[in-house]
Order: sequence, then structure tokens, then C-alpha cells
Amino acid sequence: MLAPAHGGVQGGSSIRLGISGVPGVGKSTFIEALGSHIIAAGHRLAVLAIDPSSRRSGGSILGDKTRMETLARNEAAFIRPSPTGGTLGGVARRTRETMLLCEAAGFDVVIVETVGIGQSETAVADMVDMFVLLMLPGGGDELQGIKKGVVELADLILVNKADGEFAAAAERAVADYRSALRLLRPALSQWRPEVLAVSALAGTNIDKMWQVIGRFRHTVEADGALAERRAEQARAALWAEISAGLLEQLRLSPVLRARLPEIEDEVMAGRAAPAVAARRLLEAFLAGTASAGPDASGPGAGGPSAGGPGAASGAAPGGARP
Ligand code: GDP
Repeated sequence: MLAPAHGGVQGGSSIRLGISGVPGVGKSTFIEALGSHIIAAGHRLAVLAIDPSSRRSGGSILGDKTRMETLARNEAAFIRPSPTGGTLGGVARRTRETMLLCEAAGFDVVIVETVGIGQSETAVADMVDMFVLLMLPGGGDELQGIKKGVVELADLILVNKADGEFAAAAERAVADYRSALRLLRPALSQWRPEVLAVSALAGTNIDKMWQVIGRFRHTVEADGALAERRAEQARAALWAEISAGLLEQLRLSPVLRARLPEIEDEVMAGRAAPAVAARRLLEAFLAGTASAGPDASGPGAGGPSAGGPGAASGAAPGGARP
């Protein structure tokens, strides 16, 4: 049955939260605090991570086992570090799959955590119901420095470390983010993003934040906006899987492997335009695929059509030479 596996939103089903923020903002401290609150309220929590840094440096910013120790010991919590290796897209696809598995296994709250590197926030925002951005206290300069595109993704901004000497700065930052948000178009017309000061360390406003999540869910579920967001995300995930699958097939294709070095050389030397060379490669690939099937005829080398049986078959594998 498709609906549950792909995240239909029936009453009582899961809530998917994305949490992002720069290293040191307090993500793991915050998830510990929120997680304990969530579990005390009777939920089961899965925490997944997308950590693009592990791909670049071989070391990871997120995901080492010493983080979130209290949660990790709790039987109602499941914590999984980021898949390593591969592209951000690959890591995101595997994380999305894991998220669906966790829901099927009865985890009704899923948190997907990421650091603010590259496009990882977008990847997370594209798989969750609500995207939460954790910020440091300190208005002005920091506000200038934030990536506008990321703030646009947020359904909720939390200014963390609103305690002790940072309390006043946090309140100022809250006011600054509120006015900044007024200038942006909200991602969902039903929900105006909120800004809240919290202290993950002292546990201040964690309960209030959980109430905001409840209110968000209620608001966007009522008129079908949540179901629509999930449906769009599922469609995007389908196409991401198709693209990745096709690319994998291309990379494995003997026809392509044989021709690629030569064509890359030509493109790099400026003897062939990238678009023309890519089309030639695709045609060779499609011809190779067709010839592996029951009907050996493939698409013609000159036509843009995907061809098929009956198309002009001048392009045998390896035949579409420059
Ligand atoms: P992450 O890298 O975003 O996961 O950040 P961590 O949770 O590891 O926190 C980074 C540092 O900030 C740690 O020393 C925390 O103790 C501290 N920290 C986290 N939350 C708070 C908070 O609410 N108030 C204060 N004062 N410090 C905090």
C-alpha cells in the first residue's frame, strides 16, 4: 500500500522535524532537551542526521556517538549518524528512506538534523513537515551574515543560549529576526514563521517550542497543506530516485565507459560543445540499451527523439562518432 510508506498524513501519524544551525549553536544540546520532553510526553523519537562534512574531510561534524548521550540511552529514542560517502543527494535519499522506515517501526517523531553547509538545509527542508533553524544570540552583524535563502526555509527560528550573559542579546536577536521575517514570503501561506528564544542548556521554552510545533501541525493539517507538502516531497523524491538510478545505469554502461574518456577530452579541449557531446553519449547509451533488448534497433544518431523500436537505426553502440 502506497499511502503509509510514502507518508500520508492521517490523524495521529508522525511529525517530521528538520533542525539546522551552525556548529556550536547547540543542536545536540537542544535535541537532548527537546527529545527528553517529547519522550516524557509519550512519543517515540528517531534522530537522523545529514552531514555533508563527512564527505569532504573524512571526519564529521555531526553524528559521532558521544553526542546526545542521555537520549542514546533511552529506549524510546533511536539515534542514527549521517550516512557517509557519496553525494549530498545520495545521503539525503538514504536518510529519507530511513525516515520512512523509522515511521513504519513506530517512531512518531522524526528529527533530521544538519549543519549549515552547502545545500544540506535545503535537502532537509525538502523531506520534513517543519523546518526549524537554530541561531546564536547576537543581532546586527550576524543577521547580516545569515544566508537569506536559509531563513526563507524556516517555519520556526529559535535563538538558542538565551540564558545568563546572552539573555539580553537573544531577546534583541528575536526582535531582529521577527522584523526580517516580515519582509519574506512565508513558505506556507497558512503559517507565518515564528521566532522564539530558548535555552537548550537551562531547558527554557522547550515546552513552549513543542506547543508551537503542535500548533503548526494543527494549522497546516487542517486544510490539507501538510498532506500537499508531503505529496510534493514524495514526488520530488521519486524524481531524485529516477535521476540517480539513470545516472547509475549510465555510469555502468560499457558503451559509455568506452567512449567517455575520448568525449571528455574533446569537450575539455574545446573541440566539442558539452551539450552536443552529452547528446551523442546519451544516444549511444540508448542505442546500447535497445540493442541489449529483444529488438536491436535503436534511436537514430541525429534525432532528438528518444526513439525506440522502429526509429532510424544508424547508431549502433559506439557508432555515433564525432
Ligand atoms: P552543536 O555543534 O550545534 O551540536 O552544539 P552543541 O550542542 O555541541 O553545543 C555547543 C556548545 O554550546 C556546548 O558547549 C554547549 O554546552 C553550549 N550550549 C548549547 N546550548 C546552550 C544554551 O542554551 N546555553 C548556553 N549558555 N550554552 C549552550
